[in-house]
Amino acid sequence: MPAFVSQQVVTAGRIQPAAILVEGEEILSVVPPNQVPAGIEVHDFGQAAILPGLLDSHVHINDPGRTDWEGFETATLAAAAGGYTMLVDMPLNCVPATTSVPALEEKRAAALGRCQVDWAAWGGVVHDNQDNIASLAAAGVRGFKCFLIDSGVDSFGMVTEQQLKTALPHVARTGLPLLVHAELPAPIDKANNALMQADWKRYETYLRSRPSEAELSAVRLLLSLCREYKFRLHIVHLSTSQALIELRAARSEGLAVTVETCPHYLHLASETIADGATLNKCAPPIRGRENREQLWQGLRDGIIDLIATDHSPCPPHMKHLDKGTFKAAWGGIASLSIALPLIWTEVSQRGLSLLDIVRWMAEGPARLAGCHTRKGKIAAGYDADLVVFDPHSEFLVNEQRLYYRHPVSPYLGEKLRGVVKATYLRGKLVFADGEFSGVPAGREFRLDSRMSD
Ligand SMILES: [Zn+2]
Repeated sequence: MPAFVSQQVVTAGRIQPAAILVEGEEILSVVPPNQVPAGIEVHDFGQAAILPGLLDSHVHINDPGRTDWEGFETATLAAAAGGYTMLVDMPLNCVPATTSVPALEEKRAAALGRCQVDWAAWGGVVHDNQDNIASLAAAGVRGFKCFLIDSGVDSFGMVTEQQLKTALPHVARTGLPLLVHAELPAPIDKANNALMQADWKRYETYLRSRPSEAELSAVRLLLSLCREYKFRLHIVHLSTSQALIELRAARSEGLAVTVETCPHYLHLASETIADGATLNKCAPPIRGRENREQLWQGLRDGIIDLIATDHSPCPPHMKHLDKGTFKAAWGGIASLSIALPLIWTEVSQRGLSLLDIVRWMAEGPARLAGCHTRKGKIAAGYDADLVVFDPHSEFLVNEQRLYYRHPVSPYLGEKLRGVVKATYLRGKLVFADGEFSGVPAGREFRLDSRMSD
């Protein structure tokens, strides 16, 4: 039984000196450092903080089917290096899309023996798979995802309001959350029509092509459906702060709605995105500085529950960096390996603390994915998923630190604060000081069994 000791253990809503006693894969107890039983192995990390392993509820692993974009091996290496111990994979961009149980089984086969951290799957809701919703839930997906607008890949169609209404009773019966890409097509089509002749190398053109109105109208529709169909609604990657007023009201009304935003919306701002810099393309788009500050306020106020990466990589040529046209470029920003330092860099400048990081990047996502009784906390009975984090060191983002398949990133060259020193998955060391243990110890998270594979 080893003990993990630090002067800054983030546990029970406090940052305090503590020793985490681990037995097998679980935390046995958390005790004051002077109460470590004699004779056991002690890992003392001194002033470096120990946080619960982070959980990313929004990742596109693209496996099986598009492993030239990413894959379980590279995504989970990036995760381990970034302090994440569990990923929940989106149902699209992989082939087949996770819209049926056989497709989920193909994903399980692809993941087997290849993961450095634990994982689980979201199922997809598309126009014609209502009959698969209950079976996907029974098979172990953590919830569902759908698009109200073109998803970018043909294999995962959007749903219209009518199609969504057909699916919602099925979703509601599972008790699982429905994660929705909340943009409606009409305001975007209108904006695009007015931008036919515009210069698509300019970031401003792309920003204008996806106005806040598209998000705002989608959020309004979803809240009314949530009221009517009584399902658990989760808004993924909120970009516009304009929706916060409605979301706050929905909360006060008691609607079951949760919200996420992403590191790129919290760190970048449209004013500083250079023309042609298509690495910054994502949907909804990165908006202005003032909007970013409002998103931070939304987090502080608890209207935004969590931060997920929306790690969505692609081969570099799909970013069209040579031409720099935002219209043609694939939208998506990969950040699994550096999301924690990105957010810590912002958090530490804003008078916030590691407690907030844990709330937004471990507890919140764990609750969304229904694994909050085992993941996302340092407490007795929880999985011994631990991250050793040096909050004071700084580093420059370079290609060697990214670890995912294609080391492209809008963050290259940036100086960030906070270094992941080590990551433990269920008590086992998986990453330390730039090295991986090499043993793929990750497995699918299943609530019904501690030994799923
Ligand atoms: Zn996504």
